[in-house]
Amino acid sequence: MIQLNDVHMLMKKSCLLAMLCILSACSDPGDELNSEIDPVILEDLIQHTDEFEKEVYSFENGLHLAVGYGIANSIMIEGTDGNIIVDASDSVAEAEEVYSHFRKINSNPIKAIIYTHNHGDHTFGAAYYYNLEEEKPMVIAHESTSEYVERIMGILNPIISKRSSRMFGTELPSSQVINVGIGPYLGVSQSPIGYIKPNITFSDELKINISGIEIELYHAPGETNDQLFVWLPKHRALMPGDNIYRTFPNLYTIRGTPHRDVKSWIESLDRMRAMNPDYLLPSHTKALTGETIMETLTIYRDAIQYVHDQTIRLMNKGHSADEISNMIQLPPELSSSPFVREFYGTVRWSVKSIFNGYLGWFDGNVSNLDPLPSEDYAKRLAALSGGEKKLFEALEKAILDEDMQWGLQLSDSLLALNYETEATNKLRQKAIQHIGDRALNPNKRNYFLSSANELNPNYRAQPLLPQTSELLSEISIDMFFDILSVRLNPEETKGILQRVCFEFDSGNIKTITLRNRIAEISSESKNCDIRVKTSEQIFKEALAGVRNPLIAVASGDIDTGGQRTNFLAFLSKFAE
Ligand SMILES: [Zn+2]
Repeated sequence: MIQLNDVHMLMKKSCLLAMLCILSACSDPGDELNSEIDPVILEDLIQHTDEFEKEVYSFENGLHLAVGYGIANSIMIEGTDGNIIVDASDSVAEAEEVYSHFRKINSNPIKAIIYTHNHGDHTFGAAYYYNLEEEKPMVIAHESTSEYVERIMGILNPIISKRSSRMFGTELPSSQVINVGIGPYLGVSQSPIGYIKPNITFSDELKINISGIEIELYHAPGETNDQLFVWLPKHRALMPGDNIYRTFPNLYTIRGTPHRDVKSWIESLDRMRAMNPDYLLPSHTKALTGETIMETLTIYRDAIQYVHDQTIRLMNKGHSADEISNMIQLPPELSSSPFVREFYGTVRWSVKSIFNGYLGWFDGNVSNLDPLPSEDYAKRLAALSGGEKKLFEALEKAILDEDMQWGLQLSDSLLALNYETEATNKLRQKAIQHIGDRALNPNKRNYFLSSANELNPNYRAQPLLPQTSELLSEISIDMFFDILSVRLNPEETKGILQRVCFEFDSGNIKTITLRNRIAEISSESKNCDIRVKTSEQIFKEALAGVRNPLIAVASGDIDTGGQRTNFLAFLSKFAE
């Protein structure tokens, strides 16, 4: 029998892990920003949108590049009795639209899908191609790709989703998004995610013949560690994935990323140069042919090396990351190339990431090792200014003078003091919007305008996309236990020593031991307080909210060996 208590728990648990999805749904914001696109200030960014006009470009030898149907391109390579897709776009609906054009050119079956790397805009449309025919295509990627896909959906998902949503402006009215630097917009929210786990993987290189096409795949770390490039020796065609596109590279992404190894990125570009290609079909922005390819690859790798080397040079002179980010600019020999305009990555953010990659967060200045907590600092700043009211007046003046970054920093202190929060936030919103409206970098622009939007009193975060059973089956059970581990609420586990063992019908055993307010994950099956028997798929669905966890427990689909209440109480310790 279901009790009221259980229903409460159910409410909590139904959304226990319902944050597995990469990005929030969007497109219908509650409040409109009263932001206007200034055609003069933003002229270059507006022009950059031409790069993403919807079109399928066809080249000799059966190569076809679909640009502008979503944030990332898809490529079709025609073979003798079947075709190969390189990068599957970011949703099933987008893949379907792209394929409606590809199939008019050649409707032979799809024999293989190649992921250049793990990002959703290259992998989430794969299920569309995968399910076209009874005979399933190969799904080829680097051996680490599936692990990285799971990481996107895993322990960092809530914060990465939020920050991605801001960076791509997915909660902004579409009229406010000029473009997202490497594509017109992010469309992942418009249809189900269709990720298919790779079934052919490799470590350093893979040479394979598919439908008469000689294909060489090379591991090429850069924008991601699992990045590969595709080389077709007979076609002399290169598909570099995201290691080059027509904007300065995202050596750091403001949505948050593990450190991107800049040296490896340069080496990967050098390996591509060694191929001396006649065609370059990137996964974002338009294709290049002929001599421009080598020129562009060279400028691109030189720009990255310039920023890397000069950052290290200035680091070694004792400068902090903040200082260096104000000291380095690309020289005119490099900055004149349209391939290093800062429409995606920027030199300033790259410098900080390179510094952090080599030396970590401590800038070396003793003041910053254990600085005053922000509230304490704000109190002293206010006292020095003649009181909190004076600090607030300084904020008002900063906004009036359009001294917006100063205004933002003042508002940080006032918020730390909880001073006139509503009025402070209104002024803060003005500063954020002002800066966002004038930012030529779309990541910065979208991030700022989204943040301004979030300060609207009626703002409601858009719900995350619902999970599907199909998607969950592509994700390993281990990731779900990793997520449980970082969701444990220590307040609820004081003095608790408990072991719950899960025996899955796959033969997999996973155990959670609560001890010292942590959840140890292991495969130990002795001394279990509760033994749970179920299938991996049912457990995943219950955690992700696809299946009602309470009903799954009550019906015995999740068999708790008669310890239903204890098990639900155990699970509730992992709820928000
Ligand atoms: Zn991409």
